[in-house]
Amino acid sequence: MPELPEVETVRRGLAPHLEGRVIARVDQRRPDLRWPMPEDLVQVLTGARVTALRRRSKYILADLDRGGCLLLHLGMSGRVRVEGAQLGDFHHDPPILPQHDHLVLTTDEGTTITLNDARRFGAVDLVREGQDHPLLAALGPEPFDPAFTPARLAAALAGRRTAIKAALLDQRIVAGLGNIYVCEALHRAGIHPARAAGRIGRDRIALLHGLVREVLAEAIEAGGSSLRDHRQASGELGYFQHSFRVYGREGQPCRRQGCGGTIRRIVQGGRSTWYCPACQR
Ligand code: ZN
Repeated sequence: MPELPEVETVRRGLAPHLEGRVIARVDQRRPDLRWPMPEDLVQVLTGARVTALRRRSKYILADLDRGGCLLLHLGMSGRVRVEGAQLGDFHHDPPILPQHDHLVLTTDEGTTITLNDARRFGAVDLVREGQDHPLLAALGPEPFDPAFTPARLAAALAGRRTAIKAALLDQRIVAGLGNIYVCEALHRAGIHPARAAGRIGRDRIALLHGLVREVLAEAIEAGGSSLRDHRQASGELGYFQHSFRVYGREGQPCRRQGCGGTIRRIVQGGRSTWYCPACQR
């Protein structure tokens, strides 16, 4: 499932093909994904120039010269292909099938950009000029936003009895964090995922804040190198495999130097959490 680093990698891969380009043709192959697509999607996009390609949380936003923007969300299984080259072929995903190509944009340069989504949990929507889109309105700060400081994180967690894992997944506290990178950041910080968020000292929160940025930055860098390798090599983008320290590693040895613990999986809020009981307190 694409998380922030994967979405950022797709954005970086798409930007050279979309920024400054006019969308010459729009081929919309179904009326809905997770939600209905706007009825005027084809009309609004056709002939519009993309002035910038941005990311907010796990949403890709293409600003249009006629105002507003196109919002793309990759959901659980969404993938984007440029001229047959694939951007974001995620870990464990099944092969791409053409019947799951739901939206194809052709630019004035003749590049085709195809959104493929087998499970259809993704979304395609328009953010109208001056509109506060409901998916974006309640989002907290971006992890790399200078406004997201250790003090702000500490203030957001103060007094909370919810588990730190759940608090970090709360998009109002920090936007874009998902299951994988929350597990990884908590492991690096040595914090038990079930610990009450309000009962973590300020110095440990400051450490966690830095490690949230570190795991995301490393994954974005890994995604960036996969894009570069892809351009240099065969023309096909391979899987970009991250090496996780805890995620998906139940029963395997902890990767912290000298720890010797065994990774355990628990379920929190209906979702798996992987952690090391020996070094996360
Ligand atoms: Zn450990």
